[in-house]
Amino acid sequence: MSKKKPTVLLEHYLKQLKLPTMLQEYASLAATCSKERLDYPAYLLRLTERELIDRERRAAERRVKSARFPVIKTLDTFDFKAQPSINQTLIRELMTGEYIDRHENILFVGNSGTGKTHLSSALAFAACSQGRRVRFFTVSQLVTQLREAQEERQLQRMQGQLERHDLLVLDELGYVPFSKAGAELLFEVISRAYERTSLIVTTNLPFENWTEVMGSERLTGAMLDRLTHRVHILEANGESYRLRDSRQRLKRRKK
Ligand code: ADP
Ligand code: MG
Repeated sequence: MSKKKPTVLLEHYLKQLKLPTMLQEYASLAATCSKERLDYPAYLLRLTERELIDRERRAAERRVKSARFPVIKTLDTFDFKAQPSINQTLIRELMTGEYIDRHENILFVGNSGTGKTHLSSALAFAACSQGRRVRFFTVSQLVTQLREAQEERQLQRMQGQLERHDLLVLDELGYVPFSKAGAELLFEVISRAYERTSLIVTTNLPFENWTEVMGSERLTGAMLDRLTHRVHILEANGESYRLRDSRQRLKRRKK
């Protein structure tokens, strides 16, 4: 039997209204609901609920994708015992994302391999799941993109895009020193984010060495001032997890 006209029209309307889950499920759910002797409102309720749940899932996937995480990391794979210097209670509190509503920043300071990127990603991923707009950059990536945007006269546009986020992760400050122009562009981002967009910054540098990377004492002072006005500082001063990991693997092999 060919499809009856009403369903053809219905499917057309559902497509136009952009309700893909309802389109996909209205028929099978109608059969189930009629078996369960549910009335029309109950059927409609179930159908719209499914659309809503799917829509939220699709939006979350989009947010995660547009955040551009290098790798997705979560807290359940983080071994706090291996890094006792990290304040676990504070990390768990920050996972709620309330610091973002308060426009506070987070700063991770510590040597390479101490879990700074892992924890930043976990916090940013949680923020994504909570419906927040997040973007992950390494500092050098960000500065390169800003310089490119500037050359193409797109700097304002890019700055505007950055401002539309709730949280920016700036990973690895201090690994590469900046040119004067680069330092100024980074400063501009931090300055515009002040009291508007939360920042998570990771660095291997103690504050007193920031001038070396930024190149200017005045700029460093102004940047630190904004960054640390409302900040949670987490210091990871344990040994490198990578080193520990490979050392343990070596030991096992020798046994
Ligand atoms: P950093 O950014 O401080 O250099 P990373 O976060 O990149 O360090 O950590 C290096 C690697 O070790 C990553 O694969 C990370 O997932 C892992 N790692 C670091 N610390 C821990 C930890 N305490 N528990 C589990 N994995 C860890
Ligand atoms: Mg890192």
